Amino acid sequence: MRYIDINSIENLDELQLRLKECRNWSCVKEVLSELSQKTCWYCEHYVPATGYAEVDHWRPKAQNMYPWLEFELKNYIYSCKCCNNKKLNKFPLKDETKRAKISTDDISKEEPLLLNPLNKSDIQSICYDMSGRLVPKKNEIRDKVRKTKEILQLDTTDRLAEKSKAFSVLCSDLDTYLQFKSNEEFANEMIKKINEKIKYEEGNPFVWSFCMYIESWFKENDTKLVGTNIREKIKFPEDFKEVYLNN
Ligand SMILES: [Zn+2]
Repeated sequence: MRYIDINSIENLDELQLRLKECRNWSCVKEVLSELSQKTCWYCEHYVPATGYAEVDHWRPKAQNMYPWLEFELKNYIYSCKCCNNKKLNKFPLKDETKRAKISTDDISKEEPLLLNPLNKSDIQSICYDMSGRLVPKKNEIRDKVRKTKEILQLDTTDRLAEKSKAFSVLCSDLDTYLQFKSNEEFANEMIKKINEKIKYEEGNPFVWSFCMYIESWFKENDTKLVGTNIREKIKFPEDFKEVYLNN
């Protein structure tokens, strides 16, 4: 899962207006896909807008849920078919009595038990382990992470398959770096390989998940990394640095 700065969309108000007029998410699809280099905001799998891309309504649009948010851009999650199919109308709250029933109810009183890629503090509170499983960084967010994984079924064997394979390659590159850190040429080669994986490029999945893992790997291997310059040489994307490393 990655952070999406929805306010970074140029002419956001204009786009919102257009969405309410055309009443079809296809008119914003392209813009949303560009925000994540065509990866699902929940699971970071590659999903081109022309392929199986869908939009999940974070607060479900069902008639008995939040129908007034059907064309609300900030309620949209650019998503792969799999995440959208698992999520459906699920939207658990910590306290059901606080659920908004009509459009004039205050949704900010709700305490959703579902991570939101648009919520900076949610993303700052999560991390990944070496097999690519989502884990909470803070105790307060444990229930939310557990519930999100349950709803989206992020860590089931088949859902994890591609991700754990990609993570094992990354972990092996990091370990190889540690092992051969004194061989400058070889160490640089490893850093180059790692940087390729965390570069924003169409078709590059798991960039944020990888970055989150690398950051925790730094912490875990702190003493072993003394005297090496991997920290300076890893090229984290700017928005990742700003949101995740500065908190
Ligand atoms: Zn997904």
